[in-house]
Amino acid sequence: MSRFLLVRYGEIALKGRNRPVFERTLVHNINRALESAGGRPGGRGLRVRSMPGRLAVQLPPQAGEAEVWRLAGAVARVFGVVGVAPALRVGLDQDEIARAAVGLAGEAVAGEGVRTFKLEVRRSNKAYPLTSPEVAADIGRRVIDAVPELSVDLHDPDLRIGVEVREDGTYVYGRSLPGPGGLPVGMSGRAVALISGGIDSPVAIWMAMRRGVVTVPLHFWSFPFTSERARQKVIDLCAVLDTWGPVPDLLVCPFTEIQTTVRDGCPEELRVTVMRRMMMRVATRVASEERALALVTGESLGQVASQTLESLASIEAASGFPVLRPLLALDKEEIIARARQIGTYDISTLPYEDCCTLFVPDHPRTRPSRREAEAAEAGLDVDGLVERAVAGIERVPATR
Ligand code: ATP
Ligand code: MG
Repeated sequence: MSRFLLVRYGEIALKGRNRPVFERTLVHNINRALESAGGRPGGRGLRVRSMPGRLAVQLPPQAGEAEVWRLAGAVARVFGVVGVAPALRVGLDQDEIARAAVGLAGEAVAGEGVRTFKLEVRRSNKAYPLTSPEVAADIGRRVIDAVPELSVDLHDPDLRIGVEVREDGTYVYGRSLPGPGGLPVGMSGRAVALISGGIDSPVAIWMAMRRGVVTVPLHFWSFPFTSERARQKVIDLCAVLDTWGPVPDLLVCPFTEIQTTVRDGCPEELRVTVMRRMMMRVATRVASEERALALVTGESLGQVASQTLESLASIEAASGFPVLRPLLALDKEEIIARARQIGTYDISTLPYEDCCTLFVPDHPRTRPSRREAEAAEAGLDVDGLVERAVAGIERVPATR
């Protein structure tokens, strides 16, 4: 008998001939998660095995209950994973299967006060002599005989016992942890993600990551108008995001010259629009260098003056890449709930100012046209400003 984490994945199974690539990326990311959880994949028997429709992580025989759930928790943060269950693998034999199921049921009754259960049997091993309903009926009867506190409830059981009869043995499991779903990071190419210290952009990055995008974080920093602590906040946000999946090094771009030039050289009510267009230009340059295919922002339709459809269009016109806005249709409350779940909320709400709150006029234009924006920046040395900002970018290695 050996112990495994049985990993279910969702959409990946639907990807036809691409499936091996998806699976390999998922295995790679699971290994990374196990490694940062101290699980040392490859060593100590922690090996990820692939089988039809599932992955199985072999656990070291000496791993205690707390260790098993800790590793399961790490895998449950990997994008692409739908569920993770600690499982026992026993032989292809009703007696062995029953012993494992009875053991699980007994523990659940003693530990969690479980009273009803249901067996969920899958039989991918077509050579096994019993059908799935026959396996369920036999094991169910034996569980009830051995654990008289339990009765069957097919509709709303306290405990579901999974039994998967496969080629290499039978996997038996009880409680499972839900995963975040989505696609493994690395499946959908690269994008440059504009990250402020606010609530929204880290959530936008998380959502892009969940769809498989590698997001290169880019932060505009207006020292000394914004402090060292504002910069540190972004570094800390990236570290949280990195616990969900690989986040490349943070790029910190000096933004002070652009901001002061825009303040002094553009009509006040168009400052924000022009400043954002400058961000787009710098990000476009970075994206080309990073072999990225898109930009990601935390913009949400109508949230502030710079996020009306007219503003978004005028700003995006300065970008050479599609701008992805995962939060476009979310309300603030939904974004906040997500930020709490991700673990970025408490950092985002620290008070240190971001450059966007600098030099903001009392009455910004809410519907700036592209033509007005272009006229407003006619007197600026746009290329020179972008050039110097890009040249000053500092690479901050991810803290893991
Ligand atoms: P956030 O909470 O992400 O700051 P927000 O609702 O406060 O978003 P804005 O401040 O208008 O909105 O910024 C819109 C988007 O522009 C941000 O989500 C982010 O993608 C980008 N952005 C804003 N400020 C910066 C910055 N200093 N560095 C990098 N990107 C930024
Ligand atoms: Mg902001």
